[in-house]
Amino acid sequence: MSDAASRLKGIRERIAAAAKLARRDPGDVTLIAVSKTRGADAIVELIAAGQRDFAESRVQEALAKWPPLLADHADVTLHCVGRLQSNKAAEAVRLFSVIHSLDRASLLDALVREGDKQGRRPAVYVQVNIGEEEQKGGCAIPEVGELVEAVRASPLPLAGLMAIPPLGVEPAPYFALLAELARRHGVAGLSMGMSGDFKSAVMLGATAVRVGTALFED
Ligand SMILES: *Cc1c(COP(=O)(O)O)cnc(C)c1O
Repeated sequence: MSDAASRLKGIRERIAAAAKLARRDPGDVTLIAVSKTRGADAIVELIAAGQRDFAESRVQEALAKWPPLLADHADVTLHCVGRLQSNKAAEAVRLFSVIHSLDRASLLDALVREGDKQGRRPAVYVQVNIGEEEQKGGCAIPEVGELVEAVRASPLPLAGLMAIPPLGVEPAPYFALLAELARRHGVAGLSMGMSGDFKSAVMLGATAVRVGTALFED
């Protein structure tokens, strides 16, 4: 087994163990490999090992890397997990099937406009600034309901809520808060958890975990 394959297997086992503890079906958790800063070779190794969901955080980097990979691997789903400027909406809609960083109505408008032009309908997560941090992306907690309703009224499928908890503090209370917001607004999907905390995220209801370092480095 390649190193990539054994890392992938290990992460899948840890996700399954966390799901079992929470009496959840491990099949309800999608593992997304965050491939930002990683080269095509490392990505291809993971694809060969069976990984199908990948994410990038910058449109320019994704544009430079992914078109040939997607041409060769039509069953790969590419996600956007980084801050998105409206003037990058055309490229984002062309490249990404799922966008985790919708945080304002003007960006939704830009994605819908480009979606109409290109005949594409990326699914979107509403990103929540769950730790109410000045510099972080995501909409403010009181704005979640309005943005969720705007997506529901749009042609784009609502994938769920997404958040990145503050660094350096216990993330579980933030995961629990995101799950509570999702319940309150009748939203099913929860994109939360990264290399350091995906087990806790899965136990608290994550349906998508975004793992970079732990999948790409020993
Ligand atoms: C980089 C990144 C990740 C993955 O982080 P790791 O700690 O390397 O697993 C997850 N989500 C977002 C939004 C990221 O930018």
